[in-house]
Amino acid sequence: MSGMNLDGLNESQREAVLYLDGPCLVLAGAGSGKTRVITQKIAYLINTCGYDARGIVALTFTNKAAKEMAERIKSLVDRKLMKGLIISTFHSLGVRFLREEAAHAGLKEQFSILDSNDSLGIVQEMLATTDKGRLRMVQQKISLWKNDLIMPDEAERIAETPDEIDAAHVYRSYNATLKAYQAVDFDDLVRIPAQLMMNNAEVRERWQKRVKYLLVDEYQDTNVCQYEWVKQLTGFRNMFTAVGDDDQAIYAWRGATIENLAKLTKDYKNLKLIKLEQNYRSVETVLNAANQVISKNPNLFGKKLWSNLGRGEPIQVISMDNEIAEAESVGMRISASRFERNAQWKDYAVLYRGNHQARIIEQTFRQLRIPYTISGGQSFFDKAEVRDILAYLRLIANEDDDPAFIRAVTTPRRGVGQATLTALGEFAAEKKLSLYEAVFEEELAERIAQRQLEPLRVFAKFIQTIQWRASKGKADPSQAIHPASAEELLDDILKYINYERYLYETQEERAAETRWQNVLELVGWLKRKASEDGLNLMQLVQHVALITMLERSEDDEEPDAVKLSTIHASKGLEYPYVHMIGVEEGFLPHRGKDDEYGDASKDGEALEVRIQEERRLMYVGITRAQFHLTLTWCKKRRRAREDVICEPSRFIGEMGLESGRQQLQDPYQGMSPKERLVRLKEMLQKKPGEPA
Ligand code: ATP
Ligand code: MG
Repeated sequence: MSGMNLDGLNESQREAVLYLDGPCLVLAGAGSGKTRVITQKIAYLINTCGYDARGIVALTFTNKAAKEMAERIKSLVDRKLMKGLIISTFHSLGVRFLREEAAHAGLKEQFSILDSNDSLGIVQEMLATTDKGRLRMVQQKISLWKNDLIMPDEAERIAETPDEIDAAHVYRSYNATLKAYQAVDFDDLVRIPAQLMMNNAEVRERWQKRVKYLLVDEYQDTNVCQYEWVKQLTGFRNMFTAVGDDDQAIYAWRGATIENLAKLTKDYKNLKLIKLEQNYRSVETVLNAANQVISKNPNLFGKKLWSNLGRGEPIQVISMDNEIAEAESVGMRISASRFERNAQWKDYAVLYRGNHQARIIEQTFRQLRIPYTISGGQSFFDKAEVRDILAYLRLIANEDDDPAFIRAVTTPRRGVGQATLTALGEFAAEKKLSLYEAVFEEELAERIAQRQLEPLRVFAKFIQTIQWRASKGKADPSQAIHPASAEELLDDILKYINYERYLYETQEERAAETRWQNVLELVGWLKRKASEDGLNLMQLVQHVALITMLERSEDDEEPDAVKLSTIHASKGLEYPYVHMIGVEEGFLPHRGKDDEYGDASKDGEALEVRIQEERRLMYVGITRAQFHLTLTWCKKRRRAREDVICEPSRFIGEMGLESGRQQLQDPYQGMSPKERLVRLKEMLQKKPGEPA
């Protein structure tokens, strides 16, 4: 390809793509083509400027976004030239970085990545409490400190409330425990690389030499740690493009700070600021409503947004009797609309504030036979059976991973009881060994009776054998022995554990069946990953750990199904027709555990800050819609076996809709479920295009 096709870009977008004289910040509202600027710029760098793809790093917010971006680039750049291009999340880049720099970070290459359940378990052990609220508070506090690059010493100094002082104490020993396990948590995946680059000249130079151009999407949701890492990575060169929208900052609760946007303009004196004003995603009705809502927030950067996609249909706001009626109505509307518009299921999305709201939609959709996929919900990787199997894999990859050892050795039960584990734990601590290593010690026989020792040793030998098979040939490349493939090993592990039988022995038949299906799905997925990406068993394990709470599957083929998603997880995406449910006070804006809106005696300013973040969330939700938006709210909701009266969200009022016209009643109101189904069937028997 000679030169570059810049046709699909407007003037300002083109300016952003072509700008290479220094750091560049694109600040613009939703749907204005920020992400498109990033993709096109990567293509421009490679195709026209002759950049080697290996020197380009693009950072996205989710693995899914990374994948989509890679797909787009495939259509713009010759495959061969794409080799070595890194498009990933901060966390994935962190894994890659830590694997290469493990020695400098005091880690072995096969370090474990603990998920938030594991880390909660560690906190629990230290606090010796079962108070979930307190545990989460401490875990959250530690996480925020890490994201702010605050280490235990400083945390102890700045801690004020008794809770914070508690957390600061735990923080230190928590870190020490991770170290002993040769493990890192999610926050460490960004924190350690950032600090390593700040403190280690050799590492810093290596990476600064390597990263020739950096691009960051969704910049408004970066935290202090990520800011610092970007700064380190771009180093003296200062060649980067960041794109973001302050109005879409919705992760303050995870330590993200909008100040990063303002800070950029201060830290980089020659920063080029480019604004985009045309929205290419949404019709005017949708865009106007979004603009109206967000105009109630303080406006930091003075943005405008217009669209020429036409007026569009009016937004619908519908009140429902309760959440069951809401779910049914949404299901029926989608069925009817799909039929009338001759659309596909995947053109529809149902968005909500909290994960728990998905359950009733799921149940209803199953009844109505509406196919759906769900994202941002309880992760597949959080299911007990999946975590059981993964514990084995983690232990095989990293024998210092004590939490994995305990889970694997006790699931299924193999005659290793709590007393044995306690004795083993004490012995290991004395000898400064991992639990796994301790099992091989002769001396252990003095502490643990033969009958209990036997199953421990059998277990450890099994792990050892798999480890050996996974890595043999590596130590001696002259030997023509190759390591066993991940596929083969997975089969053997599953057979050895005899997990299926365990499930049927401990669960009701139906539960066992579902769980076994999940295990098969996991193993199938792992095998596919292994062969597609050429990963060995060890690499697979680290890869899995990265599938975060934000995303459940990365299926290749997008199935034809309605998308159920939290608003948070829908960031950056777009759908032709959007239904936002539960648009009520208390849900959106979400009412925190202990704040009452309108109670002026509370800390008014903090509350206002929270409402503003909720308003941005509303803005994100509205701007996902391309052609049509429906909002529903319930007049009553069942909570803790009581009907609670609800009110429509203040954000509905802020949308500035023509009064009355869009405030519809549910036409299916008052019908029994049976009548509704009859109506639905009638509808489905009509031909597309006929009125319902
Ligand atoms: P968000 O803030 O939600 O992340 P964004 O600013 O990243 O949005 P994109 O997702 O890049 O916006 O673009 C929104 C839609 O507009 C996409 O479908 C994209 O393909 C399309 N688009 C962007 N720029 C143009 C253009 N110049 N011409 C035509 N379509 C465009
Ligand atoms: Mg985007």
